[in-house]
Amino acid sequence: MSIILNNAKYIDWKTLEIRDTDIKIEEGINGGIEFSKTPFILVNQTEDEIIDCDGRLVTKAFANGHHHVYSALARGMPAPEKQPDNFLEILKYIWWNLDKKLDQQMIEASALFTAMDSAKNGVTFVIDHHSSPFAVEGSLETIANAFDKVGVSHLLCYEISDRDGKKVTDAAFTETDNYLGQRQGLVGLHASFTVGNESLVRAVKLAVKHNSGIHVHVAEDTTDQSDSIKKYGQRVVERFKEAGVLEFNKTILGHCLHLDQKEKQIVENSPAWVVQNTESNLNNNVGFFNSIGLGNNIFTGTDGMHSDMIRSIQSAYFTGQHFDSITPVSAWNRLRNVQRYLKSNEFDGDSNNNLVIFDYKPPTPVTVNNFPGHFIYGFYSSDIQHVISNGKVIVKDKKIITVNENEILEFSKEMAVRLWKKLK
Ligand SMILES: [Zn+2]
Repeated sequence: MSIILNNAKYIDWKTLEIRDTDIKIEEGINGGIEFSKTPFILVNQTEDEIIDCDGRLVTKAFANGHHHVYSALARGMPAPEKQPDNFLEILKYIWWNLDKKLDQQMIEASALFTAMDSAKNGVTFVIDHHSSPFAVEGSLETIANAFDKVGVSHLLCYEISDRDGKKVTDAAFTETDNYLGQRQGLVGLHASFTVGNESLVRAVKLAVKHNSGIHVHVAEDTTDQSDSIKKYGQRVVERFKEAGVLEFNKTILGHCLHLDQKEKQIVENSPAWVVQNTESNLNNNVGFFNSIGLGNNIFTGTDGMHSDMIRSIQSAYFTGQHFDSITPVSAWNRLRNVQRYLKSNEFDGDSNNNLVIFDYKPPTPVTVNNFPGHFIYGFYSSDIQHVISNGKVIVKDKKIITVNENEILEFSKEMAVRLWKKLK
């Protein structure tokens, strides 16, 4: 079965070249697309689907470089027992309180909602970093199944940490090993300050075993650095480099806010990638991202704040006017770099048959040269009309069509109430 888009205005995500065209979209995990100035002939009248774009903008769908499914049910939750004063207290009183209470049903609800929210925001690929210390076994498969149901591709990991004792650490290694034996994914580590040397070595070995990479938070707060210097006599990036974390093309380093020049150089000279999460940094009051000196392997994520990559890159751009070097063109590239990461590492699920159709009605002409400006100042995810993932329509006329949205929202509310009761 194919989908045919009539009367599309297609924007090539790499060259920004704009063409008026019909598009034939092949279904399947690594399917392609074909362009034609004249209408495609339907091969199979009953199976092929035609969508008239009526001149709407069509471009490649987005990918999220760093997300946390596990935080989805936090929205509106009761205030913590103590108002956090710093980053460590935010973890202690909010996130490490919440993730310990998750069970498989709550994880399923969190994943279904996150996948649905991603889809409606034109995001058809999510890289997630998961934590549920007392429901580790099977958690990654639960998330993967939920994403598959909605039709959003994924690259998952479990964030291994020593913060909940040896039993939980071992369970996290087993979960990762089992999952990577079945599916594409990464070896997750929480952060330097919660991962001892034994677990660090073990994680790198596991990544080698599965030809994978490490996904880890790096110097999100200054305490990550002071902890590493105190315990190991090294800064975080030096410690990770020595352990081999930075040797993988698939490694993702989250945040990288508090690196000195030497560490930035190590990152720049490595094949690892950096993921920026502006709104989360603002929310946690941990500092500001500065790409200068980090090289070109930088992309963006939402860090569990929401699932909207347009909002994420717009925030990076505006905050970056003071703290970073970023233009509309480099912002667009940074948004898209996660897809260069996925392609260069041959991950499945982000081919050209992932598309988003915008009902964008600008007051000025859109050209190859000014498109990034339109994107930064004028694009809203609420303008997303249809979303196609792996050659299948998953959002049509702003509505998710692969699952029952209302049923999932009822389920997630029920799970949220149950989780919130356990938080007290
Ligand atoms: Zn994170």
